Amino acid sequence: MYDHQQLEKKWSNYWLKNEIFKTQEDKNKPKYYILDMFPYPSGVGLHVGHPKGYIATDIFSKYKVLKGFNVLHPMGWDAFGLPAENYAIKNKIHPQKATDDNIENFKKQLFGLGLIYDWEREINTTDPSYYKWTQWIFLQLWKKGLAYESFAPINWCPSCQTGLANEDLEDGLCERCGSPVEQKPMRQWVLKITDYADRLLDDLEGLNDWDRSIKDMQKNWIGRSYGTEVTFKLKSSKEEIKVFTTRVDTIFGCTYLVIAPENDLIQKLKSQINNYSEVEKYLGKAKNKTDLQRTDLNKDKTGVVLAGIEAINPFNKKKIKVYVADYVLNSYGTGAVMAVPAHDERDFEFAEKYDLEIVTSIAKKIGERLSAGEKSCFTPDGYLVDSAEFSALSSQEAREKMTVWLEENKLGKAQVNYKIKDWVFSRQRYWGEPIPLIHCEKCGVVAVPEDQLPVELPKVDSYEPSGTGESPLATILDWVNTKCPICGGEAKRETNTMPQWGGSCWYYLRYIDPKNDEVLVDKEKEKYWSPVDLYVGGAEHATRHLIYARFWHKFLFDLGVVSYPEPFIKLKQVGLIIAEDGRKMSKRWGNVINPDGIVLQYGADALRIYEMFMGPFSQSAAWCTKSLVGSRKFLERVENLFSDYSPISKEDIGDEKIISLLHKTIRKVEQDIENFNFNTAISALMIFVNDCIAYKQKNKTLNLGVDDSKAFIKILSPFAPYLSEEIWQKLGEKDSVFRSAWPKFSEALAKDKLVNIAVQINGKLRASIEMEVDISEEDAFALIIKDEKVQKYLEGKNIIKKIFVKNKLFSLVIK
Ligand SMILES: [Zn+2]
Ligand SMILES: [Zn+2]
Repeated sequence: MYDHQQLEKKWSNYWLKNEIFKTQEDKNKPKYYILDMFPYPSGVGLHVGHPKGYIATDIFSKYKVLKGFNVLHPMGWDAFGLPAENYAIKNKIHPQKATDDNIENFKKQLFGLGLIYDWEREINTTDPSYYKWTQWIFLQLWKKGLAYESFAPINWCPSCQTGLANEDLEDGLCERCGSPVEQKPMRQWVLKITDYADRLLDDLEGLNDWDRSIKDMQKNWIGRSYGTEVTFKLKSSKEEIKVFTTRVDTIFGCTYLVIAPENDLIQKLKSQINNYSEVEKYLGKAKNKTDLQRTDLNKDKTGVVLAGIEAINPFNKKKIKVYVADYVLNSYGTGAVMAVPAHDERDFEFAEKYDLEIVTSIAKKIGERLSAGEKSCFTPDGYLVDSAEFSALSSQEAREKMTVWLEENKLGKAQVNYKIKDWVFSRQRYWGEPIPLIHCEKCGVVAVPEDQLPVELPKVDSYEPSGTGESPLATILDWVNTKCPICGGEAKRETNTMPQWGGSCWYYLRYIDPKNDEVLVDKEKEKYWSPVDLYVGGAEHATRHLIYARFWHKFLFDLGVVSYPEPFIKLKQVGLIIAEDGRKMSKRWGNVINPDGIVLQYGADALRIYEMFMGPFSQSAAWCTKSLVGSRKFLERVENLFSDYSPISKEDIGDEKIISLLHKTIRKVEQDIENFNFNTAISALMIFVNDCIAYKQKNKTLNLGVDDSKAFIKILSPFAPYLSEEIWQKLGEKDSVFRSAWPKFSEALAKDKLVNIAVQINGKLRASIEMEVDISEEDAFALIIKDEKVQKYLEGKNIIKKIFVKNKLFSLVIK
């Protein structure tokens, strides 16, 4: 009888009591550090989709333990931030209490899945002994000039009542609540991630074990482009318009300029704009659009000319019009672009719509021109035409020479532009790490002395957002009012808190040395365990957490706190589990499946096997309880196979065929785990078990000796730890299966034994094909009809008779 509940109780207690999964730090053994993206302990708990990644890392960890590694596979909680705080406000519980309760629940759920971590290394970003070091890192950034105060407009979510970083937006909406985000000028702390943009980009190349798609997402997010800044002087104004372009070679075809609605030039030129009321109306409309709506290539482009304003093309001195149009974003480059309709699709569309001049300056071949009246848009590089002294140069040469010309004439310069912006790092909310700075009227902004860290979040009853743009901390006077650490005078604490991404930027370092009160991480320990060998999580973190963490890590590397420039060597992304109805699991659709009920009914081992068997790990798959039953049946078959096993009465050698299959299976499972192909590893285990069952049914005895039985249990154990431990100890072992060693497969035994099968067609020998010994008629036939020589004879004919002589002959009669 396979009683999974009894096994789960028995063996989890045994593992805990005997510290089977406690991290070992034996310096003579190789290490392996496996990390999950740690969860937000949300109020709703886990659904069956969440643990997919955790099950995979758990299998991988157990496999590496069996392979003889010291494995670090910890777990912790990313518990600060808006989700926890919004949940707390909604349910009227203090966020600390809500967080603690939720963590309890998560832990219970993880435990139920057979995910046993070394909880002595548990971390929680809201624990003051943890965020002391988050604050410490912030102070180091500030001391190096990498954290600065800014008053520029930032994304503001009117519903969450806080500022947000660009990374917190999804299609221009607040990623948390879906509200359209406004631009609001406010005081904020910003981290100079742009100082690290080149390294963040260039070092991606060395990350060979990262998925290409994630690297591409980071590359696009950082968005480095080499180009030229060009200054256009204005007629009858001392103001100038600077544009950034990657195509200065097309500038002789520039027929107008476009500036973003937020560009402050519009206000500066207000008195000279003849149609200002029309412009003002347009600005009002643009304000209500998201960046995505504005830059959508399929949307109709709109704009208004700034009547009375004329810019001068620095190369040909031609006077051109200036438009304001919302497809230009103020946050990209200089907030102004030069328009070359003959060589840019977007400009071409705009010029057609507003009937603007289209002038060709690039041709496919030297000197080629369009015939009169012909209008078209040619966007690739080519050769310059009608471009004065630069005519006939290639685009590439022209860009270099024209940039030099601009520099010589003080009308521009070479420029590298990035899409990534400095990281808006402050939030006007309660549930975050306090920023450890003090404002003194005399001394300015002053750091909290390091020996006074952590600056603890005050425990208060009211923590709802103030709505004024100030953090709720601002109203807690006995916390806000303090003494200046320099002059001793009256001073005030910084009241903004850090975003939820702060604590997750460096948490993997703390697991290495979770209780250290002297330093963030001990140098020796860091050297031993770093870097993280395998990191598993969702692709949605590609441009946020994974860029932020790499940035902080590089900064800590520069400080000498860590010894490698990159934190994560190998990155695997986990595919979603969607609901049976094909939608995302969500309370809203009522299609959420709680793993607790599944574990109770089918067992943790069955759930583990099922989630890994659903399909390729990185692809999404739909939940199907029916298929879960199949995984359960597989385990029942395994249990049945060994149920009446009595090692004494069996000889220690099984039959040759099954031994060969066992070694093939060991090899396959090993390779598949290494490559994260868990589904095919399980399939190999199933094939093996089916073979054994077939033999047992026929011969009333198992065809495996004790050692081979144990070898099979070892390779099953990472997938189904409870059942494996039970059978393992039933086979006479006294210690845990996880204290044993992964079996070595024999190349010789794993090799297929081959025979040549003669293929006769209508009595004549037509081919001889190499096949596995004892191949079945079906499999042999499948190979034969794939053979080119045989195919030639079969063309246009029907097979009317098949004769198969095992290991010798396949004869076909055709007509
Ligand atoms: Zn929001
Ligand atoms: Zn002072």
